[in-house]
Amino acid sequence: MTNVILHESLHNENGDKRLFSTAVESALAYIQEVTHRSVIPSDDAISNLQALDVSMPEEPISGEEVLHELNVYGSAATIAQTGGRYFGFVNGGVLPAALAARWLADAWDQNAALHVMSPIASRLEQVCERWLIELLGLPRGCVAGFVSGTSVATLCGLAAARHAILADQGWNVENKGLCGAPRLRVVTGEQAHGTVYKALAILGLGAECVERVPVDDQGRLKPSLLPTLDKSTIVILQAGNVNTGAFDPFDEICALANDAGAWVHIDGAFGLWAAASEGRQNLTAGIHRADSWAVDAHKTLNAPYDCGIALTRWPDALAAAMRASGAYIQYGEGRDGMTFSPDMSRRARAIELWATLRRLGRRGVADLVDELCERAQQFAHALEERGFRVLNEVVFNQVLVACESEAVTRDTLLNIQSSGECWCGGTQWRGASAIRISVCSWVTTSTDVSRSVAAFEVARSKARSTVL
Ligand SMILES: *Cc1c(COP(=O)(O)O)cnc(C)c1O
Repeated sequence: MTNVILHESLHNENGDKRLFSTAVESALAYIQEVTHRSVIPSDDAISNLQALDVSMPEEPISGEEVLHELNVYGSAATIAQTGGRYFGFVNGGVLPAALAARWLADAWDQNAALHVMSPIASRLEQVCERWLIELLGLPRGCVAGFVSGTSVATLCGLAAARHAILADQGWNVENKGLCGAPRLRVVTGEQAHGTVYKALAILGLGAECVERVPVDDQGRLKPSLLPTLDKSTIVILQAGNVNTGAFDPFDEICALANDAGAWVHIDGAFGLWAAASEGRQNLTAGIHRADSWAVDAHKTLNAPYDCGIALTRWPDALAAAMRASGAYIQYGEGRDGMTFSPDMSRRARAIELWATLRRLGRRGVADLVDELCERAQQFAHALEERGFRVLNEVVFNQVLVACESEAVTRDTLLNIQSSGECWCGGTQWRGASAIRISVCSWVTTSTDVSRSVAAFEVARSKARSTVL
């Protein structure tokens, strides 16, 4: 009996204007409010989350009630990441057209595994792949795998590398595994991102086997200290150091690697987008000589979350590393997205990516990148004028800041984080604490930066008076 009633009420909700307009109205109210509210949720908002944390409910409730609970308790407990004064980690904002496209695409609920499951998703993956290759100046013939983020994109790139290097030595790693396999070498800078090590570990290439190359004072790998490279080596470089935003010298290292027949993977989570800006292309010079790249659309590009891309010039190597089989899988004539990604069923994230790139065009992407970098410069200059120490060369969107002493830096950071005026993360840079600013949202204006600089000063004064 109950089932019939539930089924009926679900049917009534399907396309119910009230339910869906409530969702849209709540979202719009949130968007309008978020630039004005505290960047962090209040203690009350956090403790009210208890209302959502009930035992597994026995009975269904209506969709409207669900939405009401989420909006009342959920919206208030979010971090105001889209509000213009959030500078934590390297978390991107979201462009309105991309968000709207995602809402539409969510109604489609497409599965991007196979062309036959979703011709639209398949086609847009193809288009995005072509656009990205052009925009980033990568070689023709590259393929893209659309994944959740750079962690997985790096996993894909390194899996393709592992396949290619071992296949070259007559070893099929997908069939035989790593036991008894020829040795693989991994070379990377001392500042490689943690997700590189995670991917290596998943692939059976432990952290202790990695040959770590010393870096300069910005975290850039020193080419003169590279070990001799050979055909069994994977070299992992970085476009955008998570602390300083610095870029490895790709041209020089790729030339050495190309000569030796080594595979180069570039972790370009947020920095690879420099290649789309004429004024910043010098930072990424030489990236086209690499073999695989990982990049996020949800950071610098401001696409909605859950949008990363693995690119490689060796489609067969990636496909071999990702290949799944099953009697029911119907590979088609169109592009089957699962060929190039670890997942089978996947959200059709290329839809929002397409919308983002279509909205901005080549010039809009360049402007977005330049704007983020200019705001970072503004931040750095204003803080220096007020006696803060800027620890890095601000070449991209990252600024590392310290005060006169370790204790004041640490307390200033805590005061900033609890102020609600803006939010920054902390880090250790060359043995000392630093405040880490990442300008990563299109929303951030120069007024937001000025206001945040003022918050830094207040936070430091408070720190000085307590530290002494
Ligand atoms: C963010 C980031 C990653 C991880 O990317 P996710 O999208 O969070 O998986 C890897 N490398 C660098 C340099 C990053 O900034």
